[in-house]
Amino acid sequence: MTTRLSLRNITKRYPGIVANDGVTLDIAPGEVLAILGENGAGKSTLMKIIYGAVRPDEGEISFDGKPLAVESPAQARELGIAMVHQHFALFDTLTVTENVALGLTGNLSPSQIENEIRSLGERYGLEVDPKAVVMELSMGERQRVEILRALMTHPKLLILDEPTSVLTPQAVRKLFTTLHKLADEGVSILFISHKLDEIRELADRCVVLRAGRAVASVDPKAETEDALARLMIGNDPPKVSESSGRTGDVIFEMNNVTVPGTTRVCGISDVNVSVRAGEIVGIAGISGNGQSIFMGAAAGERPTEPDHVKLFGRPVGDLDTYGRRLSGLRYVPEQRLGHAAVPELSLTANNFLTSDSLVRGGFIMRAKAKTFANKIIERFHVKTTGPEKAAGSLSGGNLQKFIMGREILNRPRVLLVHQPTWGVDVGAAAVIRNSLIRLRDDGAAIIVVSEEIDELFEISDRIGVMYRGALSPVVPKNTLTVEEVGRWMSGLWPDSPFSKNNAEA
Ligand code: ATP
Repeated sequence: MTTRLSLRNITKRYPGIVANDGVTLDIAPGEVLAILGENGAGKSTLMKIIYGAVRPDEGEISFDGKPLAVESPAQARELGIAMVHQHFALFDTLTVTENVALGLTGNLSPSQIENEIRSLGERYGLEVDPKAVVMELSMGERQRVEILRALMTHPKLLILDEPTSVLTPQAVRKLFTTLHKLADEGVSILFISHKLDEIRELADRCVVLRAGRAVASVDPKAETEDALARLMIGNDPPKVSESSGRTGDVIFEMNNVTVPGTTRVCGISDVNVSVRAGEIVGIAGISGNGQSIFMGAAAGERPTEPDHVKLFGRPVGDLDTYGRRLSGLRYVPEQRLGHAAVPELSLTANNFLTSDSLVRGGFIMRAKAKTFANKIIERFHVKTTGPEKAAGSLSGGNLQKFIMGREILNRPRVLLVHQPTWGVDVGAAAVIRNSLIRLRDDGAAIIVVSEEIDELFEISDRIGVMYRGALSPVVPKNTLTVEEVGRWMSGLWPDSPFSKNNAEA
């Protein structure tokens, strides 16, 4: 068998941890190889080694039969290796075109690049405005830019580190068709995902990493999802508990909230929602339909008229996030690095961002913050060597567990969560979902914005959908089907301003 890429005994150590431990694997031209593993198993590290972003301590790599010693991602791209990063590697203040141009080696003019972004975007279902500045884009749109940028280099080996985490189901379908076509043309594909159904559908082979070691290589189509989960974790993943909450009074409400967007960022218009104590309200919708501004308005990042947002019946629309936090409302934003956590700071120090009880009379209480970090690590099974580790050194899923833990263990009365299980493995996702359910059963009011309809059905009591900045009626989940939610995601709920009859009226 010819091999495109061959890894022999790759080992990478970080202080206190062996991220990759003697990994050996091959990938053939045209093969789609999935890498499966728990959060922190070493998947991203291995991909970064192949892409030249991290140096291995030991081991050999060869590419198309020749020894490969890439010094940098730029060199990897020249050889025909492209990578879609889990934490988007985009410059926020540059346009989409400028970001794409940085990854290209040819001499295309900006207008040629723009045209290519448009035409490839249309062809692959990854539409994005080439002139938009990245910081204005939703996470879903940023993911599309990452993928387009990689495809535009026409790679021989394409590495995709959780490429579908915030793509719409339709975009995932088109991406998979594209990937199958590329594989037929001989492109080798390395694919990381926590979505076991995607691995079964896409991959020819699946290598399982556990604690840095490759422990199995299987045909995923011949395995059930449960069997794959067991291979990865070594056990059955915990189940999400089924109880339905006993609700109390409305403790959080938004009334006729309108926050304008910009030409490229979708605002919200006339949004009404109320949440009772002991209730989880799930908000579905395709990313970029106003969810970020909705969460910003609910959390206090985008103040409104005071009485448009009420907490325990009191107007709080003019309070910022700190003011609302003091009244018991907490927020887990979508972007972990840079918004929810400072990558360079330790986990202990990151606790000061939102745990106000750790600062008294202007003094920070470091020992208490460290104890709290240890408690989060233990309760939420965060894999790290300790609370003094920088947030940015945690694997993506483990940082998400830490941030969720930090907010949940602060015992909020109202919790707003944007994409609670983005990049989190199946076992940890169940831990997070169960902790949200427990918090609700303890009487908290919770709003979850998620792109994963299954997740919303699993944990919500009522579900609504955002479309072009409008919120559908928020109804009990047992009155809705998954298909209906899918239709509502195109704005077609009963009496919607977007349905044809109403639009013409
Ligand atoms: P996830 O599914 O959560 O993305 P992963 O399998 O991709 O996880 P990696 O990101 O490869 O895991 O991390 C493997 C281990 O190496 C983790 O314990 C992580 O904390 C550690 N690690 C990764 N990068 C660094 C770094 N720059 N400094 C210190 N430790 C690191």
